Amino acid sequence: QAKARGRNGYSFYTPSMTGEGVERLRLETFLRRSIEKDEIFLNYQPQVEIDTGRLIGVEALVRWNHPELGLVPPIRFIPLAEDTGFINQLGKWVLEEACRQMIRWQAAGLNVPKMAVNLSAKQFERGSIVNMVADILRETGLEPQRLQLEVTESVIMNTGDAMVFINDLHSIGVGLAIDDFGTGYSSLAYLKQLPVQTLKIDRSFIKDISTDVNDEAIAIAIIQLGKSMNLSVIAEGVETEEQAAFLLRHGCHLAQGYFYSKPVAADDMLTRWRTS
Ligand code: C2E
Ligand code: MG
Ligand code: MG
Ligand code: MG
Repeated sequence: QAKARGRNGYSFYTPSMTGEGVERLRLETFLRRSIEKDEIFLNYQPQVEIDTGRLIGVEALVRWNHPELGLVPPIRFIPLAEDTGFINQLGKWVLEEACRQMIRWQAAGLNVPKMAVNLSAKQFERGSIVNMVADILRETGLEPQRLQLEVTESVIMNTGDAMVFINDLHSIGVGLAIDDFGTGYSSLAYLKQLPVQTLKIDRSFIKDISTDVNDEAIAIAIIQLGKSMNLSVIAEGVETEEQAAFLLRHGCHLAQGYFYSKPVAADDMLTRWRTS
């Protein structure tokens, strides 16, 4: 609605507008300029094999550092970017930067096996997502097999043509992970038809894994499901050694979380993970 208001040239400020509305508008105005002002950057969170500690990939996480607002968390600006359509520009920037970074690390002597990038539902609505991904892979020279796109269950279930896009992405060799798995409503029958390689167990189930019997049961069920469908399963939000041990005991070999590393700047990846 904010977009339409802008185009029609109506006053932004209406007497009924709440403080929250004003704040949102300010954020929206700032956000629109964020890329050109170089305020957007990526952090990368390592994904590891639990028993060896080996690096199996990273997830790219977008950051916005505004001179006045400071570091704005993604939960505040991603929904706004989705509502205003800015997500298309932002999503493209993120994907390009993430793929370029893989090549830079390689040149610097760090081999990161896989780059995971989050996609929003709104990016699917645009239709040309497959071409965009293919173009970026060609321009950056990153092998499609080393890119994994993360989508949530709700994106898959609520986006009309998601199935078509996902199959197209698979056909160009790009991997797919279902993010925050267990929090949405994906039909298992539907899941079976999708060319998905990875399930990411949502952080909320990992948090109290060794004290809450329900969370424990859900995590175990997801691990079993993954195993029987031949998918790899990775746990998000692993913060303690106990959680990692629990996961390993129940057959989940991959993890991501503060216990291993917080999301870090590109150069910090070199310090910790470069072996030569
Ligand atoms: P997500 O994709 O599920 O990403 C994982 C989030 O969990 C990240 O938050 C990460 O910093 C946080 N996290 C990782 N390990 C731990 C842990 O051990 N403990 C706790 N408490 N948190 C942990 P972040 O970076 O704030 O991102 C939040 C969400 O914003 C992401 O959730 C994703 O949905 C969205 N997002 C981030 N970057 C992008 C992007 O480039 N594009 C899109 N469309 N969405 C993005
Ligand atoms: Mg994710
Ligand atoms: Mg997640
Ligand atoms: Mg999550």
